[in-house]
Amino acid sequence: MLPINRQQKMLEWLKQEGVLKISDISERFGVSEMTVYRDVNQLAESNRIIKTPGGITLPSASEQNANQCGYCLRPIQHSYSVQLITASQSVEQMCCIHCAILRYEDKKEEVSHVMCKDFLLQTTITAASAYFLVNAEIDLHCCQPQAIPFSTIDYAKRFQKGFGGVICTFDQAAEIILHDRQKGCTCSKT
Ligand SMILES: [Zn+2]
Ligand SMILES: [Zn+2]
Repeated sequence: MLPINRQQKMLEWLKQEGVLKISDISERFGVSEMTVYRDVNQLAESNRIIKTPGGITLPSASEQNANQCGYCLRPIQHSYSVQLITASQSVEQMCCIHCAILRYEDKKEEVSHVMCKDFLLQTTITAASAYFLVNAEIDLHCCQPQAIPFSTIDYAKRFQKGFGGVICTFDQAAEIILHDRQKGCTCSKT
């Protein structure tokens, strides 16, 4: 099992059980406590868990719902955040387009809109009308491969001049990101 898979699993257990002991985690995975500590430290660095004496827990619930990506559980930075709005008007927040695409793929039938923000103007736009710059040479420090939303193709083109990448519609961006999911995705689930 890869560290990323163990970490994802730990987050799942935490959601169900609230707290976990390091010794318990090491037993469940059949790995050393040293290995568990390495995973735990990585999760703690990205604020996805809080360390307690001898164990781990999730950041407080209120913080969690407002600030956590519904897919990869990363803390959400507002400028990149994306909302998935379902037919029943419930809203899920994702950290970036990458996660929005993966989440959308999981529950396509239920989603009525995907709302994102224009990277330059910070205005809210629908993903269906947006243009996305995929694989540009700028690191947003969120999930890879990344897609940057723009409200007009003109903005996307100007940005592409400086940072390269490919201009896509939402569907085309989804195709690239789903294709790359097997290789370098930083938040793939087991
Ligand atoms: Zn995410
Ligand atoms: Zn992300």
